Amino acid sequence: MERYDLRTEPSGRKRLAVPYRGARLLRHPMYTKGTAFTQEERISLGLEGLLPHSVTTMDQQSRRVYASIQRKTDPLEKYIGLAALQDRNEYLFYRVLLDHIQEFLPIVYTPTVGRACQDFSHIFRRARGLWITPEHRGQIADVLKNAPFEDIRLIVVTDNERILGLGDQGAGGMGIPIGKLALYTAAAGIPPWQTLPISLDVGTDNLDLLDDEYYLGWRAPRLRGPEYDSLVEEFVQAVKRCFPGALLQWEDFKKLNAFRLLDRYRKTLTSFNDDIQGTAAVGVAALLAGSRATGIPLRQQRILFFGAGAAGIGIGRLVRETLREEGLDGEALTAATAHLDLQGLLMEDDPGLDPVQRAFAWPPELADRMGLGTERRGDLTAVIRAFQPTMLLGVSATPGAFTEAAIREMARHTVRPLILALSNPTSKAEARPGDLIAWTEGRALVATGSPSDAVTYEGREHRIGQGNNVFIFPGVGLGALVSEAREVTDGMFAAAARQLAREVLDEDLAAGSLFPSTARIREVTAHVAEAVVREARESGVANRRLEDGLIPGILAEAMWNPAYLPADPAAAATAGADRPMPIFV
Ligand code: NAD
Repeated sequence: MERYDLRTEPSGRKRLAVPYRGARLLRHPMYTKGTAFTQEERISLGLEGLLPHSVTTMDQQSRRVYASIQRKTDPLEKYIGLAALQDRNEYLFYRVLLDHIQEFLPIVYTPTVGRACQDFSHIFRRARGLWITPEHRGQIADVLKNAPFEDIRLIVVTDNERILGLGDQGAGGMGIPIGKLALYTAAAGIPPWQTLPISLDVGTDNLDLLDDEYYLGWRAPRLRGPEYDSLVEEFVQAVKRCFPGALLQWEDFKKLNAFRLLDRYRKTLTSFNDDIQGTAAVGVAALLAGSRATGIPLRQQRILFFGAGAAGIGIGRLVRETLREEGLDGEALTAATAHLDLQGLLMEDDPGLDPVQRAFAWPPELADRMGLGTERRGDLTAVIRAFQPTMLLGVSATPGAFTEAAIREMARHTVRPLILALSNPTSKAEARPGDLIAWTEGRALVATGSPSDAVTYEGREHRIGQGNNVFIFPGVGLGALVSEAREVTDGMFAAAARQLAREVLDEDLAAGSLFPSTARIREVTAHVAEAVVREARESGVANRRLEDGLIPGILAEAMWNPAYLPADPAAAATAGADRPMPIFV
């Protein structure tokens, strides 16, 4: 592991001490500037003759790369082009990504990243991140020490079992931690040399992958039970030892492991699960913004969840907490939300419920009182007719589940139905926004999990907001790091959700969108992080307690910007005049 040596001159100007020279330097993605090295740098760093003569600006490079990516028509080819740029020159990759954030978010993350995961072993060019397999048992700490840089602050780890709504993708799931970390850097300015994507490659039960001659992962059925748990335990202990200042994000684990690991480790390792907690905050933000748009407080809404998996339960928990804060309790709280999964409405007398679903089960008397006999509890339209939801959330990864009959039924009872079809990628969404708008005669407020084009209905344009977790996790991560939080609490996610709801402008709501534009992602992230830092301080988990007035400046200083720095040969960096630049302390 090497140190990434940014220095600040007494004047405040930053410089980079470069430990490589010549051709090796040009090939290093964290140090190279390509044709932007100045003539002086070319001399001092042994680059003379290795580059064409002209010196270009970063802006020129960004425009040139953008033009070449635009020439590709297939989104997967764009993904491959951007990944190749990231492997070649990370500063430039982030410059291009930030310059075109709305256009490239759907490439770097959902939906295109889903295809990249599915095709991973076929489009593989160059490894990124760390791979841990059961064969590393007993030596996981040594593997972690092979990370390229030493000061790792942010880890995203997956065991690949529930990649987006695409299920078990084996080693291909690595596209997700890589993509998520790219979003952390783009949105929150977490320096890329402080991030580390990790795949816990414990095998796969995806037979197509096991049969594929190109499959690059550990070719075995999934490790499960005590052997799986002990491998994760060794991994967690190794992370704490090797990277004691790091925040870890559990990503795309299947539901029961997701809840188990989060509950087991959240107090002992600074960590959170974005699929559960980040999604919860995004969902609650949409409901709060929707309440504002409809003028009906959340406590008077009736909220129907379709899908009681990691996302559905995660949102359900935070919604319940928010309703409790708004004064609901007892049966009113139970009856404010209804939850459907494969077996239909979650009911207390169902022995098949898993432990995390049980908290949302209805007593049979409640369903009976609504006229929902056993035979009708599995029928979405019947449940909608009886429960009369004002808000409907789809997190089932079941395309087409929101049928015309069901949505028309909802629209009969509700002036402005709020409908979130959050399943990803687009092919898994419960309904198409155009249909939802048409079936509700243009009255619905709609959001989707992946980006959607605006819909025109009877001459009026409806913007479709994207319930993208990118509005939450970068701000939570940045806030947790800056406040040196020992734990990431649910209160920090609740604070993030309330802040995100405030970021939805009246003009967003007027245009039909329940979310801000992703073009404002850095600004929104800074505000979310500010709310998280305050909440970490108030709830007593912050090792670094910052006064309100200081927070914006400290966050702005912590957010890395992809702009090239003057580069010096490492040996010549003057130890006395410069000081190493701390990022988070
Ligand atoms: P999950 O597998 O844990 O949960 C899906 C649940 O839906 C399961 O409990 C399953 O039994 C249930 N289900 C499947 N078919 C159903 C049907 N016909 N009727 C009722 N229930 C049904 O997955 P998850 O982590 O909860 O994610 C679900 C979906 O939400 C995925 O597509 C994911 O990409 C998406 N998601 C979106 C966002 C976002 O937009 N911000 C965030 C997280 C997850």
